[in-house]
Amino acid sequence: MDDSDVVIVGGGVVGSTLALLLGEANWRVTIVDAAPAPEEIDTLGHGKPALRVSALTAASRRLLTALDVWPWLASRRVAAYRGMQVWDAEGSGEIRFDAEDVGVDSLGHIVENDLLLAALAKRLQALPNVEWLHEARLTSYVREKTACGNDVDREDVDREDVRDAGRAVVTLDNGEQRRAPLIVGADGANSPLRGMAGIPVHERDTGQAAMVTSVRTAVGHGAIARQAFLATGPLAFLPLTIEGRDDHCSIVWSTTPGEARRLTALGETDEGRAQLGIELAQGLDGRLGNVEVIDAAPHFPITQRHAQRYVDEGLALVGDAAHSLHPLAGQGVNLGLMDAAVLAEEWIRARRRGAEPGDSRILARYERRRRSENAAMLAAMQGFQRLFGSDQPALRLIRNWGLSGVDRLMPVKRLLIRQALGEYGDLPERCR
Ligand SMILES: Cc1cc2nc3c(=O)[nH]c(=O)nc-3n(C[C@H](O)[C@H](O)[C@H](O)COP(=O)(O)OP(=O)(O)OC[C@H]3O[C@@H](n4cnc5c(N)ncnc54)[C@H](O)[C@@H]3O)c2cc1C
Repeated sequence: MDDSDVVIVGGGVVGSTLALLLGEANWRVTIVDAAPAPEEIDTLGHGKPALRVSALTAASRRLLTALDVWPWLASRRVAAYRGMQVWDAEGSGEIRFDAEDVGVDSLGHIVENDLLLAALAKRLQALPNVEWLHEARLTSYVREKTACGNDVDREDVDREDVRDAGRAVVTLDNGEQRRAPLIVGADGANSPLRGMAGIPVHERDTGQAAMVTSVRTAVGHGAIARQAFLATGPLAFLPLTIEGRDDHCSIVWSTTPGEARRLTALGETDEGRAQLGIELAQGLDGRLGNVEVIDAAPHFPITQRHAQRYVDEGLALVGDAAHSLHPLAGQGVNLGLMDAAVLAEEWIRARRRGAEPGDSRILARYERRRRSENAAMLAAMQGFQRLFGSDQPALRLIRNWGLSGVDRLMPVKRLLIRQALGEYGDLPERCR
């Protein structure tokens, strides 16, 4: 007997959003997540900002609004940004985007991941058809053949099973098992499920690591996200709104692994943090004045990965389990949310038509709709990194001309803004 319609392995932002989309459509959902339950939500969204933040596009915000997640989140803490400035610290090229250029209020919102997870959990807790197993780690996955296979005794096959090609059986580290016809890998960049299903992955070490921290700046950010391309990699200042003030930013500094280790070490002492503040201010060309580092400064290796397939028998990969990319365009969560929305759209539509959601043609449609878009974004990140990581005079000239040239070409700029808003490609209905 099946325990649910679908087991989702991984209850991060992407897995939780998919669970909510399917749970709202009355699917029986089991989420298995290695992490503990989100902490007491009343304490979140106050005081010091969290270290892990995401820049959400307008399309992602529309999805979270449709799921009734956004109002609670917005009542806690989100920061809208209406402008973006990107420049080449090694040259003179610069491009500026403004929400007004395309007649919208903002280009996106910076949200703290803990807060977003808590908002999703709050909505999921209200759905009796969603079972959420916390601190439960997937240890094995097998596909059990039923009607069409030989693995199960014919007498054990009930009528419901006769329609199915098989079911997923997952075993957890506490010994429990769950069975469902469908399974989703939303278990992050190192996806254990992807490995257990034998899905190969293209992997490219970018040769960079990202240091993250939070800062207070002498000059207010004015709701503008800033990114400087330094010789060693991009440095981003993402604007935060803390107690109504605009003097905090979340930092993502992509650089060489050795340099990232040095920056992390600086984050460990008061003296070091003062030095880190000086280097951050210099990296940003002093645009926000003096910088005070107010948190630790951990770093992560940046590896781009792309699963060679997003689907298998009764199985789909979403979010970082399917693709992980350089944080320079802040697109990771957004691409994952689009995966979740497209997969849910295909599955819910199939079921309404009386089709089997696990049908390979439906899974192939999901893969077709998402893989090429994600591949284009991965390729663009690689191209950016090459262009800005090069000392070749010809490439430096191209990037200086490119940034400033595009800055003067309003139609091209509008197109880029639409991309930044997430308004391109085959958008799922709930994001339009
Ligand atoms: C430095 C940095 C900055 C970034 N900035 C941005 C940004 O500005 N904007 C943006 O859009 N993206 C950004 N990203 C990317 C973004 O964080 C990821 O794309 C996003 O978190 C992926 O979400 P996910 O739900 O797919 O995976 P994850 O958040 O990794 O969640 C995976 C879940 O799977 C669970 N899990 C893992 N193994 C198991 C197991 N065996 N059993 C059960 N559960 C398991 C984990 O507990 C976890 O909850 C950034 C990334 C980095 C590293």
